[in-house]
Amino acid sequence: MGTLTMKFGGASVGTTTALSQVLSIIIHESKRWDKVLIVASALEGVTDMLLEAAQLAQLSNQRGYRRIVATLRTRHMALIEQLPLGNTERTTLQADVDRLLFDMLDQCQMVANNLNDELSPKVSDSIVAVGERLSARIIAALLRQNDLRGIAVDGTDILMTDDVHGNAMPDLQLTATRVNDILLPMLNRDIIPVVTGYIGATVNGATTTLGRGGTDYTASVLSALIEADELWIWTDVDGMMSSDPREIPEAHVIKELNYNEVAELAYFGAKILHSRMIVPLQERSLPLRIKNVFKPQETGTRVSHDEQDTPPSIKAVTSIQGLALSRAVSGSTAGIVKMVGNTLFKTLGMRSEVMISSQSSNSSFLCLVIPTSIGIDGVDRLQHAIQEKMSEYPEKMPWDIQTISIVTAIGNKLNHSPAIMGKVLEQLQNIEVYGLAMGPSNCSISVAISTEDTHRALESIHQLTIKSG
Ligand code: ASP
Ligand code: MG
Repeated sequence: MGTLTMKFGGASVGTTTALSQVLSIIIHESKRWDKVLIVASALEGVTDMLLEAAQLAQLSNQRGYRRIVATLRTRHMALIEQLPLGNTERTTLQADVDRLLFDMLDQCQMVANNLNDELSPKVSDSIVAVGERLSARIIAALLRQNDLRGIAVDGTDILMTDDVHGNAMPDLQLTATRVNDILLPMLNRDIIPVVTGYIGATVNGATTTLGRGGTDYTASVLSALIEADELWIWTDVDGMMSSDPREIPEAHVIKELNYNEVAELAYFGAKILHSRMIVPLQERSLPLRIKNVFKPQETGTRVSHDEQDTPPSIKAVTSIQGLALSRAVSGSTAGIVKMVGNTLFKTLGMRSEVMISSQSSNSSFLCLVIPTSIGIDGVDRLQHAIQEKMSEYPEKMPWDIQTISIVTAIGNKLNHSPAIMGKVLEQLQNIEVYGLAMGPSNCSISVAISTEDTHRALESIHQLTIKSG
């Protein structure tokens, strides 16, 4: 029945229970589809620990990174111990884990001996890549144990990227050659390749990563290049939700979304998907499904092109942190935008985009989306770093900076329905709106508001999604 790609996220490979679900899903689908490609994330929490190890190595904290390597070893070995594997598979896998972690420890040691004051994203990439290498090997061994021809494949051999370490962009042409040389022959021989997500390599062979949550992106690029018929993302939630259920308990699973809507959802704070993964799928009209690994019989969320006659409606509401910069004069904002971008990249290895910007005769306002993946204290660290930089040039940068919340209502064809836009704004009664923007794909309306008002805004806009579920 064609070709299926399935991506398994960290939570779906973290425990023996989850892994046995993964196994039965792969066994089931491999009977229904002619070819199956698997893309795997590191075990849940592992990438965070690896990033911490890299940081500790840079501080020459030998005890710190050794402790992390030991914890990672124990965790992977304990998992392998509990899996139903034969002796040969188990011993080979254990030896692989030891070798991979030993190499990674070696790299930490090198960083620790090298007295640089900043950890380069290049070095950090080569350290964190071990997480996916470990998990892909575990899944491939499980498949072989169950008479499927699973082979672990390193993304560094397939996914060719630029050299923006920490946030690399795949090069589709170069990657296509690797896919044709390595992956397609495997798929044609009934092999199920288990490719490591998130990691790739430059033409010079340096390991890169695609940004946090990048396994989705790997899965989407590879699906496009092998001309898969569908991509299924397996996670531990029921699908894309109408809002974050921890904020809004009435949030429901959205059954159908179009590509633009889901891209906006991911960009504006729904943490399930990597926002850049949508374009390769959209270009090829490749349908995407998001499903819960613990409830495989449920349909989850399906993403495809819109039916022609779908009427405009609001389907979801998200919130994400942002930084607002304002000053009491108008004029060019190029300098501050560049400075903030550089500081974000230096402090957190990430890029940001200005989202809302407005000028009036005597003031300027800029609002930046801060990617959710920067962690709990990321925004504070960034704000401090920007403030420090601004204080070096007080006369050039008289900007006020504050954290704010960006609340986004997501739906389709909003440009055709001023009435719906009006309804969204009507829901914001008594909430001060600092800035307002409509997304260029006509799927989102965002407002910048005070963080204290976030919950109220979410709750009230969410009411608009109830009927359209
Ligand atoms: N393991 C990586 C991360 O945690 C990539 C992924 O999970 O998609 O960001
Ligand atoms: Mg992960």
